[in-house]
Amino acid sequence: MTGEATTAVIGVEGMAALIRVLAARGRTVIGPTARDGAIVLDELTDGDELPYGWGVELEAGHYRVRPRADGAAFAHSAGPQSWKTYLHPQRERQWSAARGPDGAWAVTEDDTPPPSYAFLGVRPCDLRAIAVQDRVLAGGPHSDSRYRARRARAFLVAVECTEPGATCFCTSMGAGPAVDGGYDLALTEVVDGGGHRFWARAGSDEGAAVLAELPHLPADESLAAAAGEKVAAAADRMGRSMPEVDLRTLMRETLHADRWNDVAARCLTCGNCTMACPTCFCTSAEDVTDLTGDHAERWRRWESCFDLEFSHLPGGPVRASGRSRYRQWATHKLGTWFDQFDSSGCVGCGRCIVWCPVGIDITEEAHALNAERAAGGPPGESTA
Ligand code: SF4
Ligand code: SF4
Repeated sequence: MTGEATTAVIGVEGMAALIRVLAARGRTVIGPTARDGAIVLDELTDGDELPYGWGVELEAGHYRVRPRADGAAFAHSAGPQSWKTYLHPQRERQWSAARGPDGAWAVTEDDTPPPSYAFLGVRPCDLRAIAVQDRVLAGGPHSDSRYRARRARAFLVAVECTEPGATCFCTSMGAGPAVDGGYDLALTEVVDGGGHRFWARAGSDEGAAVLAELPHLPADESLAAAAGEKVAAAADRMGRSMPEVDLRTLMRETLHADRWNDVAARCLTCGNCTMACPTCFCTSAEDVTDLTGDHAERWRRWESCFDLEFSHLPGGPVRASGRSRYRQWATHKLGTWFDQFDSSGCVGCGRCIVWCPVGIDITEEAHALNAERAAGGPPGESTA
């Protein structure tokens, strides 16, 4: 990094200035805001739009916003959306085609340059989730050029977690609540007798340059220690945890567990968990035409492995039962993702637990599988 300051203390005014500075640099600033009874991600133009004084109450199949007396802006855990909404959009046109008067088709690729985003308030688990999607969508010989373009232009402002939700388990997955790189700026919010401040560190040259443009508070060495203590305390207050076993082996050894029948009896195969998950990346292509038949478009949209059509081959769907579809999802997240991408596919954000309409909890399922294995449940070598 250049010689710019790499650490600083900023206040609430500094946070508002951060949004202005990023916008002045041509960035579309996306961050959390309270709207429609939830803390959602949206474009921010002013510091007042941050959810100051709002927290969340989370449980399996349950989400409520709750006022907070301390006025904190980032004392809420993962919301209904994740950053993949912007980096890997839900629907995207790939190309359009028009038939000319001579009957010939002209195909136009959609190559509009992507916005230059600044993501404000990226949680450590979501920073890991972006790294997971980077490996999937931007790594290897068949990477996604649109994802790569959006990702290369994105400026990430991480905010460490000091208020984990009841459904969070990032500590179990080694994905939080502290950040350990991959950001342009990292912030830790501290609200105490000393005021409302953010301990800020730059992680890139541009991060340092942005930090230098913000109004600073007087240097306060004790704030770094207070911030560290809050993050360490958050690690001890995770609402959920995974069994302390090798999850990859657990998934492999419980393929025939009775527990898959139990969860299948509850699962609606609605796919909400895959839509809310920040690492799920599957898509399918959809071709549409207008009524004249002279215009056609190809759209890519998110797809879910819970959809019966997802595994449809000429003889029918490979995973016809709810049991096989839930098992596919869970074993991929916690097991076979390692084989494909050399990491877990789960970062412990808890979204799939909160947004499951029947409250299915991936940590509860993993504990139940572990208990069944310990009790000598059915073997799991076969993949049938
Ligand atoms: S686990 Fe829950 S969210 Fe996922 S498909 Fe089943 S019912 Fe839907
Ligand atoms: S599987 Fe669930 S907890 Fe894990 S990253 Fe996806 S949504 Fe978050």
